[in-house]
Amino acid sequence: MVIFHAVVMVLSPRRFILRGVKRISAVVGGSSLVLITLLSWYPLRRRCYEIFLRLHHTLAAVLVVSALLHVPSELVPRIYIYVGLGIYAITLTAEALLLVRRNGVFIGIFTNTRWGRLPRVGEIFKYPVRDNSDGYKNPIQFMIHCPEPLQIDAGQYINVWVGSLGIMQTHPFVVASWTGNQQTKLMLIIEPRRGWTKRLQSKAMDVSGQTMGLGRVLFTGPHGASIPVGDYEYLFMVASGYGIVAQLPLLERLVHGVLAREARALRIRLVWEFEDTDLYDAVVPILNWVLYEAQKLGKNCALTISLYSTQLVLLNKLSQRAMVYDTHIPLKGAFDAEIAPMDARKMGENEAAQRAAEKRAQEIGRGREEIMEEIMKKRVGKVGRWQGNITNEAQDVQQPDEKIDELETLPLCTKSPRMLITDYQPSDKN
Ligand SMILES: Cc1cc2nc3c(=O)[nH]c(=O)nc-3n(C[C@H](O)[C@H](O)[C@H](O)COP(=O)(O)OP(=O)(O)OC[C@H]3O[C@@H](n4cnc5c(N)ncnc54)[C@H](O)[C@@H]3O)c2cc1C
Repeated sequence: MVIFHAVVMVLSPRRFILRGVKRISAVVGGSSLVLITLLSWYPLRRRCYEIFLRLHHTLAAVLVVSALLHVPSELVPRIYIYVGLGIYAITLTAEALLLVRRNGVFIGIFTNTRWGRLPRVGEIFKYPVRDNSDGYKNPIQFMIHCPEPLQIDAGQYINVWVGSLGIMQTHPFVVASWTGNQQTKLMLIIEPRRGWTKRLQSKAMDVSGQTMGLGRVLFTGPHGASIPVGDYEYLFMVASGYGIVAQLPLLERLVHGVLAREARALRIRLVWEFEDTDLYDAVVPILNWVLYEAQKLGKNCALTISLYSTQLVLLNKLSQRAMVYDTHIPLKGAFDAEIAPMDARKMGENEAAQRAAEKRAQEIGRGREEIMEEIMKKRVGKVGRWQGNITNEAQDVQQPDEKIDELETLPLCTKSPRMLITDYQPSDKN
């Protein structure tokens, strides 16, 4: 509509005079919309996200006010704006209630403990600076203690607000500590960037258990879809840098799932490339824990982890299942290597299915020939009787239905495409 009005205004032979509330609000509203679109351009938004966010909110408010001033005051055009505002208000209220509930404020009010029940920072930790690192990129391990146990699915994230680091800022982070149960401790692994995260890093200590006076923290979430990793047989997980933080909970869930016979995974391969050795330090304890659990997998599931880094001085083998390489990730080769056993298995399955189909056809053909033979024999017997030669030959022939055990129920197709359940009972005749 804005583009259409602008084009008409330019093409119109009548001069546009910027006078009166209606016209000024039209220009202001239209300009806000254009600015919102331009500022949302990814390279711009990426460079200065906080400024983008504040401007976005301000321009959106200006747009709404301009639209209200521009359109006639009758109900019909205004209703569209009211509906939009209504939806926004409902969503905002729902989110606010969720935030308040999630952070235990209701419990706090009703139990008279007020702010004592809010989530708080449990720890803000970073490793000491390594010899070959300037400590500038040391990841932050940020622990939140929640008043209420929270069910987090692997790979989900929360939006965190810490008042002392920025009143108007929330930042999303994946929950790296996935336990499979309801949890009251949420661990985040955070990369120090330029803004909020850098300020957070400056507070972090290389001593465990310190909170550095950060005190209360609020968060919304968990957000994000839960990925059904347990439904797949072959999993190829690729991460670079901090992407590993989102993969670790999924890997843990897979290992738990296979051990509990809830996941179908036959083969899991994780490849991770990183340059930041400080990040390696933060991730290795979690990786080791997953590998410790994975020892119980036995031959049920093949798990291999390959780490690639050109920066790591100490190359070593984490375990039987995890190797560290000093090269860049050979992504295509790694992917092809994973596809090969899948293809081989698929081919094997196809061949087996073909053999089974051939055998079935043979057996059915043989059965048909036997029945034909019997019928012919019976006919010969009848002809003999008609001719006065009584013979009992036909009675000696085994009836075809004596050989067939019938399925009592029809095969059931289960949710799992690889499983077929039949309730098979031999017939009474056998
Ligand atoms: C769903 C999701 C999960 C994430 N999980 C993790 C994680 O587990 N660990 C981790 O280290 N990082 C994670 N990030 C990235 C993290 O949110 C940003 O690095 C962080 O918000 C940067 O804050 P800053 O003020 O220091 O950023 P700046 O230095 O100002 O900007 C650095 C980059 O972060 C982006 N950014 C800044 N603020 C936000 C914001 N509020 N929301 C989204 N992006 C923003 C900017 O566009 C820019 O590209 C995640 C991001 C998303 C969207």
